[in-house]
Amino acid sequence: MSHFLDRLNFLGKVKSTFADGHGAVVNEDRQWENAYRQRWQHDKIVRSTHGVNCTGSCSWKVYVKNGLITWETQQTDYPRTRPDLPNHEPRGCPRGASYSWYVYSAQRVKYPMIRGHLARLWREARKSMGPVEARQHISQNPQVAKQYKSKRGQGGFVRADWDEANEIIAAANAYTIKNFGPDRVVGFSPIPAMSMISYASGSRYLSLIGGVPLSFYDWYCDLPPASPQIWGEQTDVAESADWYNSTYLMVWGSNIPMTRTPDAHFYTEVRYKGTKTVAVSADFGEMAKFSDIWLAPKQGTDAALAMAMGHVIFKEFHLENPSAYFTDYIRRYTDMPMLVTLRQDGERYVPDYFLRASHLADNLARTTIRNGRLWYLMSPLATSWRQLVPSASAGVRVASGTCSRTMANPAVK
Ligand code: SF4
Repeated sequence: MSHFLDRLNFLGKVKSTFADGHGAVVNEDRQWENAYRQRWQHDKIVRSTHGVNCTGSCSWKVYVKNGLITWETQQTDYPRTRPDLPNHEPRGCPRGASYSWYVYSAQRVKYPMIRGHLARLWREARKSMGPVEARQHISQNPQVAKQYKSKRGQGGFVRADWDEANEIIAAANAYTIKNFGPDRVVGFSPIPAMSMISYASGSRYLSLIGGVPLSFYDWYCDLPPASPQIWGEQTDVAESADWYNSTYLMVWGSNIPMTRTPDAHFYTEVRYKGTKTVAVSADFGEMAKFSDIWLAPKQGTDAALAMAMGHVIFKEFHLENPSAYFTDYIRRYTDMPMLVTLRQDGERYVPDYFLRASHLADNLARTTIRNGRLWYLMSPLATSWRQLVPSASAGVRVASGTCSRTMANPAVK
């Protein structure tokens, strides 16, 4: 029966009842339900993940119909990693669950887009100039440059083709190299953990022209720089499952259920073992909601709070009551042994270079100069040649293999 007739029969559509009148058999057209069923039809299931700016790499079942992604569900075939740890699965997050909509979104950028004002200037200049000359004209003429730079942040992008977009990029690179040198071209490639080909092509291009390939962390700013600066290794941190081995967890700078959704369960599960959790955050985020203690510093004072904590740790374990564990830890795992030289600036001293081999007189400096390694960072807390060159600094490869101990300062065993 048609929907129109259904409406005419609205008051008389119940044909019978059951369950003492709690249920009703109705006479109505239910073809509309086919749309719902077809929504979940699929020809095949493939395994994939979401590689756009997410390192979660959760395993998903992707349902495909007629070559189009229709929907996805989380895979549940993760291997058990250790018998004493909870399962990793199911991993996933709401952003990932809606990814199949994102793929076909009208808002997805599928073509090169150029700010309209820039495209107009470029196309006009290219009528009479070569690419590099056009770049110079647009970027170095203050009045012309202002026409497109002043529009930044206001949208207004227009579609271009790859030939035009690539020519603008190449002309900008060539102009910069010609006038300022190749090392003034600084770029970034997508994160290698997700897209090795994109990463390799960008970093290879920058390397070949003599440019500077930044790490993706410099671009995203989603790695606390203190991590490589202090520990000397990039992202050399425990995997999230290791939270389950902790007895005291401090969550600071991350709203784990929101920003690390697939791993957040380790944070909740370990609490059943009695682990205490502290959330440091000015806002009452999800991670604060189920922490034992919510330490809420006033906005803008968290750096002072961290420095105050560091001050107490240094005072108690390094200055007043040196702890063997603490000393061993900082020697082996942190940049604390690296010395910063001081430079006189008027009546005061300001930090200057790290202390390097070339700053030292005597045998050590002569040895390292002879080997062309003036820039090795030096550690005054060293008890061996290997420790003399701090972990992950440039000289550590020599210290760990190709350098004999006789090259080191004789005072160092
Ligand atoms: S964390 Fe979310 S977006 Fe990232 S891979 Fe997992 S499900 Fe996908």
